Amino acid sequence: MDTLVKPPMPVPDALTEFFWEGVRAHKLMILRCRNCGHFIHYPRPVCERCLSEDLAPEEVSGRATLYSYTITMKPWHPFWVDKVPYVLATVELPEQEGLKMLTNLVECPHDAVEVGMPLEVTFREVGEGLTLPFFKPAGAV
Ligand SMILES: [Zn+2]
Repeated sequence: MDTLVKPPMPVPDALTEFFWEGVRAHKLMILRCRNCGHFIHYPRPVCERCLSEDLAPEEVSGRATLYSYTITMKPWHPFWVDKVPYVLATVELPEQEGLKMLTNLVECPHDAVEVGMPLEVTFREVGEGLTLPFFKPAGAV
């Protein structure tokens, strides 16, 4: 295995920089409308509920429940070759019904993965200069 393979890197822009800054500081930040309080993820320039452009990032609890998942067997990038199989998950954040994010589920045996299970965020440095927000079973050490 070529250990020099670098992970695919996010390319933050003006709309998403806050998210990656938060991740580097081990904070899960979600864009929120300051007019109506609606959370918005992925970040977009306009509130989907009230059409306000007055949006600001807000730190959320880091809790979630597992909404859906798949176990990835095939690496789609050379960096992930020695990391499969892993659990690709959609999680729902408790701050708002339907507020979901795509992540990986870690620290959980694959046969113990269950839709609806309570989770909490954990930040992992997966490569040089790249920290990602993953989720693990709530209460796991
Ligand atoms: Zn709004």
